[in-house]
Amino acid sequence: MADFKTHLSVAGTLSGVLAVGCLQTGLAEPKDALLFFAMGTVGGILPDIDSDHSIPVNILFSCLATLAAFFSVFSKIGVYSIAEAILLWIVVFVIVRYLVFQLFKRFTVHRGVFHSLLAAVFFCFLSAIVLHDVFALPGALAWLSGCFIVVGYLIHLLLDELYSVDMMGVRLKKSFGTALKPISFTYPKASIALITATLVLYFFIPEVASFIQEIGDVKLYDALRQSLLPQEGWFGF
Ligand SMILES: [Zn+2]
Repeated sequence: MADFKTHLSVAGTLSGVLAVGCLQTGLAEPKDALLFFAMGTVGGILPDIDSDHSIPVNILFSCLATLAAFFSVFSKIGVYSIAEAILLWIVVFVIVRYLVFQLFKRFTVHRGVFHSLLAAVFFCFLSAIVLHDVFALPGALAWLSGCFIVVGYLIHLLLDELYSVDMMGVRLKKSFGTALKPISFTYPKASIALITATLVLYFFIPEVASFIQEIGDVKLYDALRQSLLPQEGWFGF
């Protein structure tokens, strides 16, 4: 199992690179690229949300609470007064940081259901819904952010699997195969609950057609090819 620092730096670096790619191809504006980077990084630590180690989980919930609080305020700019915005920030932060955190702690087992591909889909749906419905982001942007959560999530699961291979002795440690799996069979009840929750979310997801259209656009891949390497000399030389 990879440690928190490894997860944070690998997920952060890769989602940063991908976010720059989105920026270069015109798929995202600078502010969106920042959001993608944040989403990918959060996705990279999200599977350990039920970890027994308190530091990463505390950091994760502080990050989630701060993100949620700022997004709540940003979505109400020009609607609420400064005093109301500050109050909203505090309320959202406290709810996510303390209330949701306590609920999570009570109902989860580490490496249970959250180290699975199903959980990645669950968080993708959840973030797309929240970003679209609560923070009024356009559907395509909300979906792309959800995809960044999935990318971060997959990086985390792959890293956990890689770390369960003993490179020197070329043996597999006991934890091999516990991270990257479609669903968790060890905790059937929790898995059924997660399947149900994912199915419920499915009915609330933003429309996906505009996102598919944007991603499937041939011009996007032309732009990607063109901006991948310098047209003339490197750095203008
Ligand atoms: Zn993990």
